[in-house]
Amino acid sequence: MAGTSYIKCPQCKAMNLNRDYCQSCGALINAHLQRELERQTRAKAKEEIPKQPNAITVFFEKATNHPMLPVRLVAKFFYSIWAIVISIGTLLAFLFSYVAA
Ligand SMILES: [Zn+2]
Repeated sequence: MAGTSYIKCPQCKAMNLNRDYCQSCGALINAHLQRELERQTRAKAKEEIPKQPNAITVFFEKATNHPMLPVRLVAKFFYSIWAIVISIGTLLAFLFSYVAA
C-alpha cells in the first residue's frame, strides 16, 4: 500500500489524505469501499426477494380459509394440484442444475 492519495469529501469538500472516511464529517469517501458497500446492499436485497410468498400460493391460502365450505373444498382441490406442479418444477430445476454441474 504505497503512495498517498488526497480525496475530496463529496459532502463537506474537505481534503483527506489516505483516509476511507472524511476527517471532518465522517462520510465514506473511499470509492472502492463505497462500491463494495453498494454491492453488498444489492446482494442482500436480491436475497430477500425469493422469501416473499408466491402470489398464487397466497391466493390459495386465503381461499382455503374461506367461510363457505364449497369454496374451501374447491380451493383445497386446486391447491393440491398447484402443490404438485410446484414440487415437479422444483424437482426439474434440481435435476437440470445437477445435470449442468
Ligand atoms: Zn466530509
